[in-house]
Amino acid sequence: SEESIVEQVKSEEGKKKIAIITSGGDAPGMNAAVRAVTRAGIFYGCKVYACYEGYTGLVKGGDMLKELQWQDVRGLLSIGGTIIGTARCKEFRERWGRLQACYNMVSNGIDALVVCGGDGSLTGADLFRKEWPELIKELLGEDKITKEQYETHRNLTIVGLVGSIDNDMCGTDSTIGAYSSLERIIELVDYIDATAASHSRAFVVEVMGRHCGWLGLMSGIATGADYIFIPERPPSESNWKDDLKKVCLRHREKGRRKTTVIVAEGAIDDQLNPITSEEVKDVLVEIGLDTRITRLGHVQRGGAPCAFDRFLATVQGVDAVRAVLESTPAIPSPVISILENKIVRQPLVESVAQTKTVSAAIEAKDFDKALQLRDQEFATSYENFLSVSKYDDGSYLVPESSRLNIAIIHVGAPTSALNPATRVATLNSLAKGHRVFAIRNGFAGLIRHGAVRELNWIDVEDWHNTGGSEIGTNRSLPSDDMGTVAYYFQQYKFDGLIIIGGFEAFTALYELDAARAQYPIFNIPMCCLPATVSNNVPGTEYSLGSDTCLNTLSGYCDAVKQSASASRRRTFVVEVQGGYSGYLASYAGLITGALAVYTPENPINLQTVQEDIELLTRTYEEDDGKNRSGKIFIHNEKASKVYTTDLIAAIIGEAGKGRFESRTAVPGHVQQGKSPSSIDRVNACRLAIKCCNFIEDANFQVKHNANLSADERHLRFFYDDGVKTSAVSGKSSVIDDNTSVVIGIQGSEVTFTPVKQLWENETHHKWRKGKNVHWEQLNIVSDLLSGRLSIRTT
Ligand code: ATP
Repeated sequence: SEESIVEQVKSEEGKKKIAIITSGGDAPGMNAAVRAVTRAGIFYGCKVYACYEGYTGLVKGGDMLKELQWQDVRGLLSIGGTIIGTARCKEFRERWGRLQACYNMVSNGIDALVVCGGDGSLTGADLFRKEWPELIKELLGEDKITKEQYETHRNLTIVGLVGSIDNDMCGTDSTIGAYSSLERIIELVDYIDATAASHSRAFVVEVMGRHCGWLGLMSGIATGADYIFIPERPPSESNWKDDLKKVCLRHREKGRRKTTVIVAEGAIDDQLNPITSEEVKDVLVEIGLDTRITRLGHVQRGGAPCAFDRFLATVQGVDAVRAVLESTPAIPSPVISILENKIVRQPLVESVAQTKTVSAAIEAKDFDKALQLRDQEFATSYENFLSVSKYDDGSYLVPESSRLNIAIIHVGAPTSALNPATRVATLNSLAKGHRVFAIRNGFAGLIRHGAVRELNWIDVEDWHNTGGSEIGTNRSLPSDDMGTVAYYFQQYKFDGLIIIGGFEAFTALYELDAARAQYPIFNIPMCCLPATVSNNVPGTEYSLGSDTCLNTLSGYCDAVKQSASASRRRTFVVEVQGGYSGYLASYAGLITGALAVYTPENPINLQTVQEDIELLTRTYEEDDGKNRSGKIFIHNEKASKVYTTDLIAAIIGEAGKGRFESRTAVPGHVQQGKSPSSIDRVNACRLAIKCCNFIEDANFQVKHNANLSADERHLRFFYDDGVKTSAVSGKSSVIDDNTSVVIGIQGSEVTFTPVKQLWENETHHKWRKGKNVHWEQLNIVSDLLSGRLSIRTT
């Protein structure tokens, strides 16, 4: 809470001198980490130093270690690379180099290091901490430092932030920079897709990843690639060429006009022979494909960080400072990680050690182990990739009696990941022998026109990068005509339903679940897959489409800020969507460095507006013509009935007379559009497959419990006092509440929560959102880094 943070500030005042280092390969988001560490450090009463050029700054000292002020990091959020420089420092690998680094730190009074880099940089940091007691003793013995300096610096605090585009560190789902790199890759492959399809060509795309196939795997999933080569899952030396030919030819025979093969730099076969892009090209040429190679190279490192990396670097940077303040000699050095949606601290030594075991496993040709060591989700993602790209060869078919009719419907406003989710659910289901039916144009389409269309492989194969909804979406609900909905469910013999959409999708699921007593036909497993820019569906902290929207917003706000800075003293009030959910506004505020964020959760009053104008005035004074970074406020569309976007802008303009002026900017419906982001595509894949698995498992359970044959299954159950009875066999089983669920990401887990439970206990019905304001922390971090929290606490 704000109060406890204020307490902490007071108690920690003047505690530490922290140096921030960016080391190893540069990664988008490193600047955001520098900003967050600097400002959080200053907020908590510490002094923060930039250590320039990686460990070189520590070894050389002097001007390469410089104290950073609050204003020095203004405007850094959106800049790629690292402004404090990074380097591969040979000297730091030597003991004498580390001794010199120890001396420079002690003589500058620095007692904590926050290192943002890859596993090499963190290995160096860990070694440095281990050696520190000896190094500092040696300096004392040589009279290079005083006894007092020795006593005050006996312990070194190290905190790691994983900054690397490779996403090769174990113990964290994502490293700072990885998703920006993936974003760049998918953007470029999308361009290639267009020309490939036009000319019916094949493209071999080489992506970074000498030792880690994360970029290769995820770009394969996100671009709908036919085949991928990654180091953790090398194909057989003897038959990979035949296998590649078979898969690509099969897809061509099904009607695909293009072929995409992703090759990670470090691709090998199972005998550890490198597989090069040229070899892959030659194989494709042999089957008659006009093939080109594209090496994406260093563009994968470049550009502004995506929304997620700005978020990750920011919240992890703040947590790194908190970890410094909480550190004691007994606590092992932590590395700040993320598991699903939860920021966690892991022991640095263990994460580094486990990361190294992956390379060892590959060298020992123990590829199963390498895949498992990456993390469970990596192995699952690989399996998911195969299930949509390779298992259409019939190898994945389930027995005839287990095949299902799966329905998919889009409900609510369009978002960017509806199509990729539908594509994956369809391809995965078809590979198993199920039939997939798209209910077109939502429940209105079903009720008015019986609009159901069976989906085939070729219908959906290129939906991986399309925004909007190919099957049509609509806000209507089944309650508009429940009887007709039931009629079509009966007619098509649906065994399961995936409802993809926002709050209306959630409401639709609840209505169908509640109607089971009257319409036993709805007694099938049904799963809501949240997809909405507002991210307001109860039971999840992430919704498909919200990341794409945040990327759009960060680009939009960057442009607006640039305009504001070019015209000097101008402030923009940006109005964002979200209904009564402040998620989008809070997140946008965090990733754009907004001066203030207004959301429905935190009522606006005259005092807050006054304080924010005071902060704005102070910021302009501090800049004093030196810093041209623009200023923005973020305002949720429903934050207040009185303090509207226009009014806030007018008040700012009035208060700033002669000193600064204001404008409004409303991105509107562009927030719903555009090609889905890499995160939304990757999550669409894994969550859609989990929905399919849920439907299969639940069907199996029902069948198993009631001991029904496949034909009997379609005769359904009658509902009677909590017991469902097979119409045919008369056998009964207790109704399982968990067959109408919302899939979600909550904390560090993917969850399936019964819709009834969410509807009755966890929903704010009037405000159309969950009761859990899971983005609360974002506001605190935003306010801390904008200076708003300091204004409030002084
Ligand atoms: P990336 O993932 O981008 O390659 P990285 O941090 O793994 O980043 P490295 O080149 O391995 O990149 O390491 C960066 C720097 O960290 C090295 O130049 C060196 O200064 C330091 N470093 C790496 N390994 C060690 C080590 N074993 N001992 C001391 N310092 C090290």
